[in-house]
Amino acid sequence: MKTQEIMARLQAKYPLEKEYLQAVQEVLESIEEVYNQHPEFEKAKIVERIVEPDRIFTFRVTWIDDNGDVQTNLGYRVQFNSAIGPYKGGLRFHKAVTPSMLKFLGFEQTFKNALTTLPMGGAKGGSDFSPRGKSNAEVMRFCQAFMLELTRHIGPELDVPAGDIGVGGREVGFMFGMYKKLTRDFSGTFTGKGREFGGSLIRPEATGYGNIYFLKEMLKTRGMDLKGKKVLISGSGNVAQYATEKCIQLGAIPLTLSDSDGYIYDPDGITQEKLEYVKELKNVERGRIKEYAEEYPNAVYHAGERPWHEKADIALPCATQNEINGEQAQALVDNGVIAVAEGANMPSLPEAIKIFQDNKLLYAPGKASNAGGVSVSGLEMSQNSERLSWTSKEVDDYLKRIMSDIHENCVKYGTQADGYINYVKGANVAGFMKVANAMMAQGIV
Ligand code: NDP
Repeated sequence: MKTQEIMARLQAKYPLEKEYLQAVQEVLESIEEVYNQHPEFEKAKIVERIVEPDRIFTFRVTWIDDNGDVQTNLGYRVQFNSAIGPYKGGLRFHKAVTPSMLKFLGFEQTFKNALTTLPMGGAKGGSDFSPRGKSNAEVMRFCQAFMLELTRHIGPELDVPAGDIGVGGREVGFMFGMYKKLTRDFSGTFTGKGREFGGSLIRPEATGYGNIYFLKEMLKTRGMDLKGKKVLISGSGNVAQYATEKCIQLGAIPLTLSDSDGYIYDPDGITQEKLEYVKELKNVERGRIKEYAEEYPNAVYHAGERPWHEKADIALPCATQNEINGEQAQALVDNGVIAVAEGANMPSLPEAIKIFQDNKLLYAPGKASNAGGVSVSGLEMSQNSERLSWTSKEVDDYLKRIMSDIHENCVKYGTQADGYINYVKGANVAGFMKVANAMMAQGIV
């Protein structure tokens, strides 16, 4: 494989798809060596096939807002790869959603799902609709209009969506309701459902908790734990909230949270009680993180900034893609950060990853460290199939085991001659080998 040649071809074909090209380049660079040891992959053109989605659906979503005005958005589903199982991946509702963003997320999801050890292919979808500032009734009407079209492309053995940015329990509930109405079929076609109708315990917590379980494993390789460690966290949504919660439970001290308008720094640390305030603020009142500083006057709100210049031991980017650039990565290193575990997907720019790795930080890419969410989604599918609900402890134990297995795989494929664990390489190679072997076995399809 010649990574540069393949990238040049993709760049010419998709010149505007920045995030997709960035994600593909990272994977190809790290699998090149292993790939070249398998001439049969080259002959079957595995790379040329694996970088293209199986199919992409694009559709118009028309709905009526509270003023009676007609609104039009675009909806998408990228079914990326089904070599190892039905398509599986979240839906993102955010005004900045583009096909490039969803292609990058679907591509990453393919490898992440392979890492979980569960049989799930990769997909992603969403819309340029943003729930922010919309009433509940508007969100419901949008979700229903979205499902009028998406329903025909999904199913329990075909494609099982879940949440992502802008899609939480409320949105999944509305979409599942419409799916059921249209198909007259009560199946496990969505994950992240409410507990009363087939949702798994620990699914809301899974991505954030899983990220911290992975971080714990990384710290263990250097004989360290989380106790007393100061932690910078970005975002204040689902992943950030539960990463914060698990940090608190394990004795770490979370100092920051953010949203797209700015971040708060709490020098006293974010406690469970303060976190409960954040959950209410974000999930129920749908407020902004700056209100935290009004509630807790010792905290400082920094408008328009990200938290990466604060001093701490650990950084957990849990908001969105490309939220740490080279200068911010250098600030983290200069301030003594020892570990970065990504709760978000692709939050670090390539230049930031290079800085983390050159400085031998413990650095986990999202496809490894945030795989807990989709793992418990996989467990939700199992529970739905057997018409049973597992206890919180059963699911949490499973989650811990999966995160530890993913870590072990990263160590197996990513340990360098000098002993440094390159988690990017480890995750990419482990995920790639599984998908590639399945594609080989299934012939040219
Ligand atoms: P939420 O919508 O619950 O929260 C997203 C948070 O990130 C909000 O605080 C939001 O602020 C902030 N944010 C969104 N866009 C930006 C931006 N452009 N700049 C700065 N902040 C931003 O989403 P999740 O917590 O579910 O997802 C967060 C990340 O984790 C995403 O990258 C997602 O793909 C990834 N992920 C999520 C999983 C899950 O199970 N939910 C599973 C695996 C990965 P605001 O309120 O201002 O929009």
